[in-house]
Amino acid sequence: MKNIVLFGPPGAGKGTQAELLKNKYNLIHISTGEVFRYNIRNKTDLGILAKTYMDNGDLVPDEVTVKMLKAEVDKNPGAKGFLFDGFPRTESQAIALDSFLADKNDSVNGMVSLEVPEALLVERLLKRGETSGRSDDQDEEKIKHRFQEYYEKTAVLQKYYEKQNKYFGVDGVGTIEDINKRLQKVFNEL
Ligand code: AMP
Repeated sequence: MKNIVLFGPPGAGKGTQAELLKNKYNLIHISTGEVFRYNIRNKTDLGILAKTYMDNGDLVPDEVTVKMLKAEVDKNPGAKGFLFDGFPRTESQAIALDSFLADKNDSVNGMVSLEVPEALLVERLLKRGETSGRSDDQDEEKIKHRFQEYYEKTAVLQKYYEKQNKYFGVDGVGTIEDINKRLQKVFNEL
């Protein structure tokens, strides 16, 4: 299987690119943020639990997130591979993912990271907030807090995958098409 972690700070373009890549490579796209938002819309117990964290720009606790991720993977037994978007976001999630996949005699092929300067990220997120209806995109303070979470808890994952020679950085500035071509070059090698 081809299991790829699409990585990058909020606003890097993970969701947009995942939509294109999942079709091209026949992968199941799992966006943990999307699954949480779906649960919030449907007022499930998981949604009610996740909502406060998300509204504040905090990460949802690892235990909750990992359990949900495993359930999403297990919904797709015949999959050719997975494109993880927004997961893992902490070292403990990365460890949980490795052991979960190892139990299935599988592994992460690579982490592909979209690299974008912070000023451009804030601009993109505020613009998305005008149309997405996402409250966490509409307030600059919340956006800043999400970056803080990213730099404190998530950015360390670069080292985690580098140690396994599985980290691939891609320039995330440019048109959607250009960035997609750069990503495909990396995906083709994984
Ligand atoms: P995203 O759609 O990836 O920007 O995620 C939106 C929000 O969902 C984040 O700010 C977190 O509150 C929550 N979230 C998504 N994925 C995770 C994760 N892997 N771990 C913890 N919280 C997450």
